[in-house]
Amino acid sequence: MGTGRPAYAAVAVDAPPVFLNLFSYRIPSRLTVSPGCAVVVPFGARLVPGIVVAFEEQPSVAEVRDLAAPLGDEPLLTPPQIAVACWLAEYYRCPPFLALRLWLPPDFPKQVDPRLRATGRAATLTPPERAVFEAIAAGPHVRFSDLVARDRDGPVLPIVERLVELGLVAIEAPWRRVAPRTTATEETASVAPATPPPLTPPQERAWGQLAPMLATGGAALLFGVTGAGKTELYLRALAETVRRGRRGIVLAPEIALTPQLAARFEARFPGRVAVLHSRLPDRARRLARQRIQSGEAAVVVGPRSALFAPIAGLGLIVLDEAHDPSFKQSETPRYQARDVARRLAEATGAALLFGSATPDVASFHAARRGEIGLIELGERVTGERLPEVTVVDLRAELRAGNRGIFSRQLREQLAGALARREQVILYLNHRGAASVVLCRDCGYTARCSRCDTVLTYHASPDRLICHLCNGRRTIPAVCPACGSRRIRFLGLGTERVVAEVEAEFPGVRVLRLDSDVGGPAEHERILRAFAAGEGDVLVGTQLVSKGLDLAGVSLVGVVNADVGLYLPDFRAPERVFQQLTQAVGRPGRAGGGAAIVQTYSPDHYVIRAAARHDYLAFYEQEIVHRRQQRYPPFSQLVRLLYANFNEERVRGEAMALRARLETHRRAQGVEVDILGPAPSFFRRIRGRYRWQIVLRGDDVVSFVRGVTIPPAWQIDVDPESLL
Ligand code: ADP
Ligand code: ZN
Ligand code: ZN
Repeated sequence: MGTGRPAYAAVAVDAPPVFLNLFSYRIPSRLTVSPGCAVVVPFGARLVPGIVVAFEEQPSVAEVRDLAAPLGDEPLLTPPQIAVACWLAEYYRCPPFLALRLWLPPDFPKQVDPRLRATGRAATLTPPERAVFEAIAAGPHVRFSDLVARDRDGPVLPIVERLVELGLVAIEAPWRRVAPRTTATEETASVAPATPPPLTPPQERAWGQLAPMLATGGAALLFGVTGAGKTELYLRALAETVRRGRRGIVLAPEIALTPQLAARFEARFPGRVAVLHSRLPDRARRLARQRIQSGEAAVVVGPRSALFAPIAGLGLIVLDEAHDPSFKQSETPRYQARDVARRLAEATGAALLFGSATPDVASFHAARRGEIGLIELGERVTGERLPEVTVVDLRAELRAGNRGIFSRQLREQLAGALARREQVILYLNHRGAASVVLCRDCGYTARCSRCDTVLTYHASPDRLICHLCNGRRTIPAVCPACGSRRIRFLGLGTERVVAEVEAEFPGVRVLRLDSDVGGPAEHERILRAFAAGEGDVLVGTQLVSKGLDLAGVSLVGVVNADVGLYLPDFRAPERVFQQLTQAVGRPGRAGGGAAIVQTYSPDHYVIRAAARHDYLAFYEQEIVHRRQQRYPPFSQLVRLLYANFNEERVRGEAMALRARLETHRRAQGVEVDILGPAPSFFRRIRGRYRWQIVLRGDDVVSFVRGVTIPPAWQIDVDPESLL
């Protein structure tokens, strides 16, 4: 950087999301800005908000315009945050403003309408300039939009810019921020009961590895089963971080799990925990942000978006259940929080911990290779053994004439547990396991006319529902294909399981938990009710119950472990292994629990490893497949997806892009696999056909950077799913 004040600013402009670049503006001498500051800039014929990303000595374009006005006075991002945002925009190929916006306060203006004020006396002006000047000078001030509405002869903005340059007009864009009210009663009640327990010997060993990181930075995987004492180590790490005068961010995989995690931190750090997530009411969010900015909060707890908290002095980032799919954002910017956290930790010198009992294969691979640390915790803190797991072969049940959904073994153990007044969880690892309608004569299944996917039967309301578009249909009395009346329901929805339990065990209280039953708050309520003993059996597709003590549960039955295992997605085995392991590890926190896994593939490595709670056995097999098939971590994937109502158009677009990609590959001479185009697994959603091209190679991100991809394409770098 030269001497004196910087002449130009590179600005991320809040303009339609087609611009992947920054824009250069001159910094007029009357303005003082620094990187991270919000500004108003002329963009085409409009005035729009933007964020200053950097100073420049030379503009990147020939025709440079002046910054119009500051927007607020404080920088909204710190230099490390700006650096991470720039990486995020470049890596995930999203407009820089969308990356920076992740950090912006919720009241950041979506558009601006600055005030114009006359500050001098008109000298020699052209007639159009004079007309505009007089319009401005007529009032104490004029809104830019009024000026535009009044003058239809041509673009007003260049004239305004000229008048500003002449010192005749000032542009002001006041951004009145709503100050959160803080009152004493709103402060979190400070109850300080909680002295940390002495660490167990395995925790001591882990701490020996972890503690130095808090001084030097660095990333590590904290690998240990649920109950191994990971959270206790997070608390310890935060205490040490605070002692060093720094602060932390702790991410939970879902909003539903945030309160439980926050409560444990609040108990240890009373009044110093801020919870931050997008579903908070505006006022609560403003208050939380203010407590973070003022330094009152020592730790921010929340889902992946909490990574973008306005926190300075970051010393620790923790991702609890770091393997969880929710750490990948499914809309633009499609970032993976694990990777963003790594960049943020590097930029700030913070230590980074990924806690998991079932790490994603890529993270474990990185830890094995020493790219990140590997901190292993052994058994559960209490020394309890993990539940005994029995694998039941459903093919044998069929051969024995049992066509019910419960094997003889599961039914027997279910009856026993209920007789002993113990609680039972019946688990389905996928929502797709719900019932479908089938004609027994011709095999017809009801499909959604808009999404081309099987409709599932729901007892309440008595309808067929599409799980992609939520479209509803009545159940046909006769088969629309052959006219047969022999229509039956096939498959295993949670509702069907509930009905079977109620039929076989009259009087038993059954609770149901799946994504059809309300949102996170309702799930939390159901789980609490179950934990409080208000149900005997919990039937669910999700177990958002980490940390919630389900000590009364003595039996978990996995009704059909195979669902999801054979989906055409390289991550399907990993996903099913994680779900099964979590499910069969659930019972008997109080000791002596059991689990039964019903499957048609008892010899599948995923089922066998999950039944033995054996992550390493799963990993060793899975990593071989990944290497053979050249999937991550042995390659990088980018998924390009195009959707439109007209399938021919989709196909045409996809073929054209493929041709461009091939040309680029030839020109670059790089080894990149171009897979497809092909219809994606969910071929049609809400009437729109979806086709995809998957790129696979060592550095596909660099490869696609050189290809012009029309903005209608969805670009997903490191996709979480290929379905
Ligand atoms: P994880 O996060 O791995 O599931 P937790 O940290 O929640 O494990 O620990 C499991 C249980 O053991 C919790 O009830 C916790 O309070 C308790 N616990 C953890 N560490 C200790 C310790 N060193 N001494 C006593 N209890 C502990
Ligand atoms: Zn039929
Ligand atoms: Zn549909």
